[in-house]
Amino acid sequence: MNTTIGVIGLGLMGAAMARRLAEAGWSVLGYNRTPREVDGVETLSELPEFARRAETLWLMVSDEAACREVIESLGEEGVRGHVVINSSTIAPEESSALARRVSALGGEYLEAPVLGSIPQATTGTLQLLLGGPDALVARHDDLLRALGTPTHFGEIRSGAAAKLAFNQLIGSLTAAFSMSLGLVQREGVDVDKFMDTLRESALYAPTFDKKLANMLDHSFDKANFPLKHLLKDIRLFTRSAAGQDIDTHLLIGLQHVLEEGVCAGHGTHDYSSLYESIVRQRPLH
Ligand code: NAP
Repeated sequence: MNTTIGVIGLGLMGAAMARRLAEAGWSVLGYNRTPREVDGVETLSELPEFARRAETLWLMVSDEAACREVIESLGEEGVRGHVVINSSTIAPEESSALARRVSALGGEYLEAPVLGSIPQATTGTLQLLLGGPDALVARHDDLLRALGTPTHFGEIRSGAAAKLAFNQLIGSLTAAFSMSLGLVQREGVDVDKFMDTLRESALYAPTFDKKLANMLDHSFDKANFPLKHLLKDIRLFTRSAAGQDIDTHLLIGLQHVLEEGVCAGHGTHDYSSLYESIVRQRPLH
């Protein structure tokens, strides 16, 4: 496929994805609401010119409000005849409303949220969770594979639903591990022995080791996936789950923990900083 890919949203993930696509040999243009440079990628500051030069528009912005703002700013002139691939994490109903809007403006829409973060975007090893028509998925196979492994879950909504299901696990597993680690530390249990035993058990998840050092060092400044976006995703999951008669009491608690973290200034820190809201600092005597 000989086409220019326009990546909209050059934040943590969008910038890494744009760089990876360019490195893989695709013709890539970047656009960010607040003008931003990305190494190896030509960036434009005007959306109309951007849409004239890019056939495929790949969205990687914060949330549904941002997606909607971008689509309305593009308008019919910017959307007609374009394919919009949306990798922003949004709810299934939000995605299907956007798909309808894109279609009304004369474009095609493919849902493609991603599992994985900056390291996976950089190395082209993301998991792309697709929802949309078979033909559109098939037509973009090469492009999608430049970023990782696509899985086509079905119609629009299905990729977004799978993504929320995965991100619920990110939040819940990290919270569960924080509580256990906290009790081990406060009771003076040897953390190495605890971890060795955990690794040998069926309870172990690799994400525990990925976040252990951050928690032990209270070091969360370098974010791949910021806490504020995990809060957004847990809110979206809670709303979607409540509509499907899935009990959300546990998630209401997790939301409180994440809201406390954002209020304490951890919003742009790594999501594992939720440990700080769970294992509270004790005042020095
Ligand atoms: P980020 O660094 O906070 O970047 C957000 C991007 O959205 C920025 O480019 C921002 O532009 C843009 N934006 C926000 N509001 C906008 C609006 N109203 N109009 C136009 N652009 C707007 O976020 P990120 O970590 O890259 O995440 C992007 C999306 O991917 C989120 O939905 C997130 O949940 C999801 N995700 C993230 C990860 C991860 O590991 N980070 C992994 C998978 C999925 P400005 O610079 O102008 O504010």
